[in-house]
Amino acid sequence: MAPPLQPVRGTRDLIGDDAARHTHVVETARRVTALYGFAEWQTPIFEDTKVFSRTLGETSDVVTKEMYTFEDRGGDSVTLRPEGTAGVCRALITAGLTQTLPQKVFYAGPMFRYERPQKGRYRQFHQIGVELLGPSTPLADAEVIAAGWQILNELGIADNVELHINTLGDAESRDNYRAALVKYFTEHASALSADSKTRLEKNPLRILDSKDEGDQKLVANAPLIYDHLSEAAAVFYNGLKAVLTTFDVPFTENPRIVRGLDYYNHTAFEFVTTALGAQGTVLAGGRYDGLVEQMGGPSVPGVGWAAGIERLSMLIAPPPVPHRPAAIIPMNEEAHGTALNILKSLRDIGIPAEIAYAGNAKKRLERANKSGAKFAILVSEDIKLKNLEDGSQQDVLFSDLPGFLRS
Ligand code: ATP
Ligand code: MG
Repeated sequence: MAPPLQPVRGTRDLIGDDAARHTHVVETARRVTALYGFAEWQTPIFEDTKVFSRTLGETSDVVTKEMYTFEDRGGDSVTLRPEGTAGVCRALITAGLTQTLPQKVFYAGPMFRYERPQKGRYRQFHQIGVELLGPSTPLADAEVIAAGWQILNELGIADNVELHINTLGDAESRDNYRAALVKYFTEHASALSADSKTRLEKNPLRILDSKDEGDQKLVANAPLIYDHLSEAAAVFYNGLKAVLTTFDVPFTENPRIVRGLDYYNHTAFEFVTTALGAQGTVLAGGRYDGLVEQMGGPSVPGVGWAAGIERLSMLIAPPPVPHRPAAIIPMNEEAHGTALNILKSLRDIGIPAEIAYAGNAKKRLERANKSGAKFAILVSEDIKLKNLEDGSQQDVLFSDLPGFLRS
């Protein structure tokens, strides 16, 4: 016999409770984002490689180390999407919606990154996310953050997470700040990790995001963006904090939040938890006003976030067990036809019902008990409704069945 085939490293099957948690996270996010006026989009899970390489920043970890990029049979370079924002912005342009703004987008689906698999870190993982394209006012940033906060609340995990916000400023602030960082880190270059020495040349802000311990010690005393903000950037940031306060969203200011990707400006934020070890960020995002233009579209400002469904799933309580179908049990050969008619009638009016595919009445009853069904419907000359939880049994008319089963 051939050895059983294995799943690819870093991928997981979602079965049973894992599947129920995943679905619950997605459905909660879909429902809450609709309250804010977001509509769901689905974009392809692979794109022209340039959709990501041009936008995520040639020096980002995602582009340099983590992308699943390959040539297809036609010789085109395609990439399994490592994140959702670039694809949504590409789709905005493709669909000709850059003049029909705002667009408020919700998405959910798989993402792919070649990472070292560990708890909360996979090679195929899943995200929910929102993008608000068009407005460049702090109200938009506050709305996407508030939607994220409400989702975490409705998932019952708000007590375990903290919102950290920061500003990356506008171009003027970034230039000032970059100069200050280059000066500071150049003075301490000998203590920087090899990765961060490269970052110092290509994108010094990234050093703030480094996971290297030595780097983090230097980062603790690095200059702060707050001291380099332009007037306009400061006004924007203060506006965001004011609206968050109005919306009752608690936050902490954290100058170290810079986000891993190149395209962010102004707002950057993360919801973090201490409950997941090193994989503490559950929902993260920011403003990316230059992204659509980088893709060859007009200038369309945007703000959004993405959250890892696996990490959220680990934090939530087990979702309620879905309604188990009633088990229809023909008690003898003659009752089989009637049983099938009952089965169909119940399903036609939206009541979940199942019948075992084989076996005598006793076997079927055992199976119904094991399946977790609440009710068995015993069909002979008459119909008996058996409550499998307490064992009680009563005669019922077919017309009364839906009432009992729905109660
Ligand atoms: P990290 O610092 O943990 O690598 P990141 O900055 O790369 O996160 P983002 O690109 O901001 O993550 O993605 C948003 C969210 O998606 C993360 O906060 C996390 O919840 C989730 N996520 C990212 N990468 C993975 C992964 N490999 N496996 C599972 N979830 C992930
Ligand atoms: Mg990462």
